Parts: sequence; C-alpha cells; structure tokens
Amino acid sequence: MLENTLVSCPYCGESFETVVDCSAGDQRYIEDCYVCCRPIIFDVSIDVEGAFSVAVRSETE
Ligand SMILES: [Zn+2]
Repeated sequence: MLENTLVSCPYCGESFETVVDCSAGDQRYIEDCYVCCRPIIFDVSIDVEGAFSVAVRSETE
C-alpha cells in the first residue's frame, strides 16, 4: 500500500511529497533532496492500526 505524504527537508526546509510503502512495515531509507541534493534520512513507523508516520532528519544529527 503506497501513501503520499508531505515532508520538509531538514537542510533547506523545502516541502515535498514522498511515497511511503506502508505494507513494508517500519523502515529507514535515504533519499536525496531534489532541491539541495543532500541525503535525507527517512524513518517510517507503522502502528498496529496501519497508520504511518514519517520522520525526516539530516545525516549529521
Ligand atoms: Zn533540501
């Protein structure tokens, strides 16, 4: 199950949509910001009811 969600780049603050695969469970992945090209770490958590939350942080944090 794919869900779109809006996140903000931790480096430049730009908001953009990303696609989360909720059927894959908790996951962590890195995607480069399309604006500043720096690597953003995505932490995805899925709760028992299937609701998801996405936390983004910079590689240096
Ligand atoms: Zn950025």
